[in-house]
Amino acid sequence: MALDERAFFNERPETRQGQYTCPRCRRTNDYAIRWMRRMKKDRPPSGAAEEDRVKYAKARSYLLRLDDEVTCKACGKRFEIPSQQSLMFVDQFEGLPNDEDLEREIAAMSGEPKPGAADAPKTPLPARFTRKSTGWK
Ligand SMILES: [Zn+2]
Repeated sequence: MALDERAFFNERPETRQGQYTCPRCRRTNDYAIRWMRRMKKDRPPSGAAEEDRVKYAKARSYLLRLDDEVTCKACGKRFEIPSQQSLMFVDQFEGLPNDEDLEREIAAMSGEPKPGAADAPKTPLPARFTRKSTGWK
């Protein structure tokens, strides 16, 4: 009996602000969008069978957007969140120098307004960023 994929992750719901423009009234507002962050555990569940270990090895931490639509704050029309990705792998953001940059990058991809300074110079990877990816790529 194979383990559920969720056994490999620690789940954490979170809310992110997204800025969207209503297609009807053209007003732009900030909306609170629900996401689920699934962070890969440090090791496979104890007692995992071989096939589960393989699955674990392939698993990647990710953010999944739970909301597909928002309700316009100005006119009340429901509209789809335009085109931003609804699933983002956390290792897409590897290489960013610190948590602040990581958060900013995720925010940009999840639809938040960019708080400037997007082209900050890249610095070498700190060990804590490279550590997790070894062994399962
Ligand atoms: Zn509207």
